[in-house]
Order: sequence, then C-alpha cells, then structure tokens
Amino acid sequence: MRSVDREGGRGATSLDEAMQRSREPLSLRQAPRCLAKTRRGTLCQAPATPKGRCRMHGGAPGSGGPKGPRNGMWKHGQYSQDMIEQRREVRRIIKAAKDALDAF
Ligand SMILES: [Zn+2]
Repeated sequence: MRSVDREGGRGATSLDEAMQRSREPLSLRQAPRCLAKTRRGTLCQAPATPKGRCRMHGGAPGSGGPKGPRNGMWKHGQYSQDMIEQRREVRRIIKAAKDALDAF
C-alpha cells in the first residue's frame, strides 16, 4: 500500500507553496510570529498578539502588572525591585567594610 501524506500526496516543494496551500486566513499568515522559546528549544511560530506573544505564551517585554504602588498587590513595597536592590547594595557595602577591616 502506498503511503499518502497529509497534503494528498503532492508533497511540499517549497515553503512558499506550503504557505499558499495553508488554510490559515491571509491576515494570520502575515502576522508577526510569537518567537517565545518552546520546550523543544525552538522558537514558537504561532501568530503573535500586539504584545508580541501568541495565545499560549506570555512574558513579552512590557507585559505584566504595573511597577510600584499601581500594582494591586502592593502593600508596603518591601519586595519591590527597588527595595531588593537597595538591601543588596547595603549588604555589599557592609561586606566591603568587613573585608577592609579584616585586611588590618
Ligand atoms: Zn508562542
């Protein structure tokens, strides 16, 4: 028995031909691609939304909740990026001072 591929045995000869036979509407075929990294390690090729990712992926630059007190989960700012960075800087200065004292 002869095997028949999904395109009815014609076989794709080029990407352009494959694109022309696609059942996707033209607007979807021309949409920018998602390009998120998939679990296979390849780039996602699904059509992207205006934020740059497809319906399955997120985390595009500029997406997510607002920074600072505008964020609904904001209570005291203890874990805001600014405060975390500030504590890191203080620890770095204390360690540098201790290292300087230990040198004597
Ligand atoms: Zn995607």
